[in-house]
Amino acid sequence: MTAEFAFVEVTREKAVEISRAIAAAGRAWHIHALHPGCRFNPRPEGHCFVVEDTDAAETYCAFSDQPFTKECHELVQLLHGNSILNSDCSTGDAKDQPIVKSAAEAFAKGEKWHHHMMKPGCVLSPLPSHYVITLEREGSDEVETRTSDLPLDDTLREIELLYFKQYD
Ligand SMILES: [Zn+2]
Ligand SMILES: [Zn+2]
Repeated sequence: MTAEFAFVEVTREKAVEISRAIAAAGRAWHIHALHPGCRFNPRPEGHCFVVEDTDAAETYCAFSDQPFTKECHELVQLLHGNSILNSDCSTGDAKDQPIVKSAAEAFAKGEKWHHHMMKPGCVLSPLPSHYVITLEREGSDEVETRTSDLPLDDTLREIELLYFKQYD
C-alpha cells in the first residue's frame, strides 16, 4: 500500500522553514517522519518528511535517502513544547498503555519500528476527527493504534523518548 495524498514537494531546508513560519503564524500544523517501507510514504524506497499546514489545507513533503532525525528533534518540540522530550515531565502513567509497551519492547529487541502522531485533520489519519497515534513494527503487518478526542501528549512523550533514544 502506498499513500495517496496531495502534496507540494520542497527541499529539506524549506520544509523546516515552512514549519517555523506556520508555528509563528499560530496555525494548526504537524509533521511526520515517514521511514522507508512506511505504509504512508509516497516514495517508500527513501525517507519522507511531511509538514501539514492544516488551517491552509496544504501539505508539503521533502524526500531524502537520509533520515530527518535532526529536523524532527527540533520541530517536535516546536509543535508540542519542550516538555515532549523531557523525561522529567513523564508521569509514568502512560508506560502501562499497550502501544507504549509495544514500542518499549521493539526498542529493547532492537527491531526497526516507528510511530505516527496524527492530529485532527491529518491527511494520513484513519480517524481525522480525533488525535491518533499509530505504531508500526518490523515484521508485523498489524498497526497498533491509540485514539482520543484529547491530545495524547503523555503517550506521545514516552514513545518520542524511545524513538530518539534509538539515535543517541
Ligand atoms: Zn509508518
Ligand atoms: Zn498528519
